[in-house]
Amino acid sequence: MTDTLNSSYTVAQERKVVTAIPGPQSIALHERRLAVVPVGVGTALPIYIERANGAILVDVDGNQFIDLGAGIGVTTVGHTSARVIEAAAAQLGKVTHTLFTVTPYEEYVRVAELLAQHTPGDFPKKTVLVNSGAEAVENAVKIARKYTRRTGVAVLEHAYHGRTNLTMAMNFKAAPYSTGFGPFAGDVYRAPNSYPYHDGLTGAEAAARTIGYLEKTVGAYDLACLVVEPIQGEGGFVVPADGYLPALQQWCTENGIVFIADEIQSGMARTGAYFASEHFGLVPDLVLSAKGIAGGLPLAGVTGRAEIMDSALPGGLGGTFGGNPVAAAAAVAVFEQIENDDLLAEATRIEQTLVAGLEELASKYDIIGDIRGIGAMIAIELVQPGTGATTKEPNPKAVDAIVAYAASQGVLVLNAGTYGNIVRFLPSLAISDALLTDALGVIDDAMATLR
Ligand SMILES: *Cc1c(COP(=O)(O)O)cnc(C)c1O
Repeated sequence: MTDTLNSSYTVAQERKVVTAIPGPQSIALHERRLAVVPVGVGTALPIYIERANGAILVDVDGNQFIDLGAGIGVTTVGHTSARVIEAAAAQLGKVTHTLFTVTPYEEYVRVAELLAQHTPGDFPKKTVLVNSGAEAVENAVKIARKYTRRTGVAVLEHAYHGRTNLTMAMNFKAAPYSTGFGPFAGDVYRAPNSYPYHDGLTGAEAAARTIGYLEKTVGAYDLACLVVEPIQGEGGFVVPADGYLPALQQWCTENGIVFIADEIQSGMARTGAYFASEHFGLVPDLVLSAKGIAGGLPLAGVTGRAEIMDSALPGGLGGTFGGNPVAAAAAVAVFEQIENDDLLAEATRIEQTLVAGLEELASKYDIIGDIRGIGAMIAIELVQPGTGATTKEPNPKAVDAIVAYAASQGVLVLNAGTYGNIVRFLPSLAISDALLTDALGVIDDAMATLR
């Protein structure tokens, strides 16, 4: 349990709905927003948040929501964690910016040391820090190309890697991420993934399919890198079959292809390991971190084998804000909190509570086709009634209805998946079993309203 944290909560860890959702203040703010913020910046829920603490969001109308999204897996250590606030505030009063590539500072080096220590693999590693997940992906591809002197980039079906030009080309889903935004970066090759619920393949079979596809359509010799999410995030928490990822890694190693694990969503303790790669016995050449690394401050990194990371020319990597001292100090505090509060164990506790509750729901509602995920990264895939054993027809309408109903009752939950038919649970690791059980009750009610 999270007793060590409870003493420092500044918002009662409870759900409380005091207005219609969204409330009047949120509605007023949303009108202002619509006038000045483009529609391309989407809004999943027009609920304006005034403060947040632990696993609770408080909106401008005083409603309290159980947060099962954590800003898409960002506030892994809990909202406004006292440790993170303290570290960031202290750093704010010391130095907020010098530009690490002009005059460096210790916090950046410390984050690089911690990432070297906690990413898989026992060999010299180096890290470049940047501002966002997409920027980490971009840098990893740059580095892999420079190192291999090859250009091809392989990605998997249902992947999501960001919204920059290169990463748009790497995403599986066109709308809304890339529709109308071309021309796109070339030399990106998309191969079938392992999706046990749908393909029924073993890891070895799925790996043979992926590798065969890449060998036929591009050829190993022209590939600089293969980028995989060990557990796919936006794709719907797709956990590959046993042996799939190790087989891909082995093929990469044999063919001089840099194996890159995009752990932007799955990393930083979310799955009960520092990086999800560990669950699959992977030792990636490069590991990407972002979302959960700095408790909500913008920071991302590429960590990997020193000889690969050192291939770029001096000045070839970096950027004005990359590895900002305040964000870096927050990241150091996040690592400390993972250790001090044993958050890896908390992720496993959350998995047990969520999976047990969801299995109970699945016994009542046949639209739950699949329950999957590891740690505090759990999803349900919703199918049309009666199709669970046959066509597994996607049921995005049920997902939308559940998300909307849950919000109206004070539970924030996110959708996911290429077909929008997945509900994902990725709460802060500070969330209590009591809050999870309360939230599952609301999901139960939501499903009951669908019948
Ligand atoms: C969110 C995400 C990204 C993009 O990160 P941004 O910080 O939004 O640019 C890339 N890969 C994965 C797996 C993600 O979940």
